[in-house]
Amino acid sequence: MTTQKTKFIFITGGVVSSLGKGIVAASLGVLLKSQGYRVGIQKFDPYLNLDPGTMSPYQHGEVFVTEDGCETDLDLGHYERFIDENLSRLNNVTSGMIFWEVLNKERRGDYLGNTVQIIPHITNEIKHRIVQSLEKEPYDVLITEIGGTVGDIESLPFLEGIRQFQYENRADCAHIHVTLVPYLNASGEFKTKPTQHSVKDLREIGIHADVIVCRSTHALSFDLKQKIALFCDVAPHCVVTSQDAESIYELPLMLEQEKLDEVIIEKLGLTKKPSHMDEWKSFVDSIHNKENPAIKIAIVGKYTSLSDSYLSVVEALKHAAAATACRVDIEWLEAEVIEQEGAAKHLMGVVGILIPGGFGSRGIEGKILAAQFARERDIPYLGLCLGMHIAVIEYARHVMGHADAHSTEFNPDSSYPVIDFLPDQKDLQKKGGTMRLGAYPCKINPQTKLFEAYQTDAIQERHRHRYEFNNAYRQEFESKGMVFSGTSPDQKLVEVIELPQASWYVACQFHPEFKSRPYKSHPLFREFVRHAKIKAFQTEEI
Ligand code: GLN
Repeated sequence: MTTQKTKFIFITGGVVSSLGKGIVAASLGVLLKSQGYRVGIQKFDPYLNLDPGTMSPYQHGEVFVTEDGCETDLDLGHYERFIDENLSRLNNVTSGMIFWEVLNKERRGDYLGNTVQIIPHITNEIKHRIVQSLEKEPYDVLITEIGGTVGDIESLPFLEGIRQFQYENRADCAHIHVTLVPYLNASGEFKTKPTQHSVKDLREIGIHADVIVCRSTHALSFDLKQKIALFCDVAPHCVVTSQDAESIYELPLMLEQEKLDEVIIEKLGLTKKPSHMDEWKSFVDSIHNKENPAIKIAIVGKYTSLSDSYLSVVEALKHAAAATACRVDIEWLEAEVIEQEGAAKHLMGVVGILIPGGFGSRGIEGKILAAQFARERDIPYLGLCLGMHIAVIEYARHVMGHADAHSTEFNPDSSYPVIDFLPDQKDLQKKGGTMRLGAYPCKINPQTKLFEAYQTDAIQERHRHRYEFNNAYRQEFESKGMVFSGTSPDQKLVEVIELPQASWYVACQFHPEFKSRPYKSHPLFREFVRHAKIKAFQTEEI
């Protein structure tokens, strides 16, 4: 194992889920990277799906796509945005992947003569996966977050795997346990019992936490930290508060104040170096700057009750808002409601309309109405993947007069199928991991809004789709004023469309939201928000 140089940090969670373990992992990553360490972060998820690609956004939130085309947990999006590094398929491991590998080995005869068991076969595979990403990236520090909560049956193999790994590499490992310390308003006191129980559960498995990160609504006093330290068998300075914050981007700064990085550095025998968090600080200042005007942007989607389903889109809008000195108020709109009640009732007053990616026919007509509203009222429009399909269908129906125009995803019998299956998708039977996934190059034509945004003619963006623009209609669209500003380098696939008469109406086949970073706002989101702001104030002075 290549464990001599790299240090390993494991993060588990206790008491309840959704404590923000992923944000803690990402924040620690930022703090260590800002001191010059090469940091990698990975997520081990205990569920049996091979990846979250086939899961409903209701159950799992957004599916994040890596540069190398892996459908992953949304925490990888947090990691990439925080540490400003592209991660890969090696950075998200599920129980399903581990079992799949072991069972395939069993069928191949690799274990001939042996009974295949959780220990050692599954745990060995887990230990192998912990270090696998190091073959590609020689990280100084590799942070591994274990999904789920300690005490879940399905987490047990992972916890046993990391217990063994820590036993074998004691000097190079640190373990952080993130728990909840509730504050009871009625009695005005914190409760440490859930944390005690959860740390006890961890110890029963044989894992000793070095640091306890306590998620809480209020700051914890030193006395309280001492009490938690005593019960959890750590030094008081190893009890760290992760207090609720207005924005997740505050957490690295808050955890730095709590000295989480110092405690971990000390435990791992590394050296504390000066951190460079200036850009991060000014980004946080700009998202909190109340003097920045608020503008209203509508997201018309299908899972709008759960903003986690569009997490990267929301974050990319925040980055764009900071870059253009405004605050974006998102108006979440259910496409079906627009279908029933019309666009004007809900979209009047918004200065930008965004239609994100999606699957399935529910709400499609409402999205088409929203795109029409944007085009006819010259409201800045950003269409992402499905949002591009919608823009194309809307244009074909209402500008080109083909009332039956559709995508074959929603109407396989359309007489005017402007969006159709990608050629290699036609005969696919399997659902998981079979879309056009990951980064592909796109060539940008000069003198377009797209070129204005990127300032270059060659880009790479991430994809996740089965359908695309149908080239049979390309010339007709062009003759009716639509511009194909981005295509694959061989010009065979349409990647971006735009309307030159509009102040800003751009839609892309890819998902730019996956590549936006806090203080490196994505060009398309930045331009979209900038034009929305212009629309709001009808002024060019930004
Ligand atoms: N459902 C469409 C397709 O498969 C769009 C996918 C998406 O928006 N990511 O092509």
